[in-house]
Amino acid sequence: FDDGPGPQTPQLLDTLKAKGVRATFFTIGPHVRSYPHVVARAVQEGHVVGNHTWNHPVLSKLAPQQVANELTSTNNVAAGAPSPILVRPPYGAKNPSVMSVIGQHGMVAVIWDVDTEDWKNRNSSISTQRALAGVKRGSIILMHDIHPTSVNAVPCILNTLKQQGYRFVTVQTLL
Ligand code: ZN
Repeated sequence: FDDGPGPQTPQLLDTLKAKGVRATFFTIGPHVRSYPHVVARAVQEGHVVGNHTWNHPVLSKLAPQQVANELTSTNNVAAGAPSPILVRPPYGAKNPSVMSVIGQHGMVAVIWDVDTEDWKNRNSSISTQRALAGVKRGSIILMHDIHPTSVNAVPCILNTLKQQGYRFVTVQTLL
């Protein structure tokens, strides 16, 4: 789940808790600062919190020092939580320079293979269909926990995939 935390994230955490599912949250620095208790709860409940930068820029267009600042500023705001190891580059935009800076910080970039386009369709059933159609063993499904339609899609996605025999782990466990 990218771009959060946000007002909908507690509802998502309730769903995940009820279904015994652990997820990975790629958070934006200012949102971590606004909802520190939500991040703390996510960590406490076994989810992994990763870094989705501070300003959500296209990292591949930035100088190395700017990329470094994007990473460290968001890492530093996560007081009380373990410093993130996983990075989700905004828009999936990376190049050798970006990867080098991420590596220098002891971090790992994580993209996705199933894009629900939930930020665009803002429709729970379309997001659900896209998640279910694209998934395979080892998949990473991209969603955004700042949209109510995305959070509302999660119970159906989890129920259906569980029926198909899938189980859910954090990206850290998957890697
Ligand atoms: Zn994003």
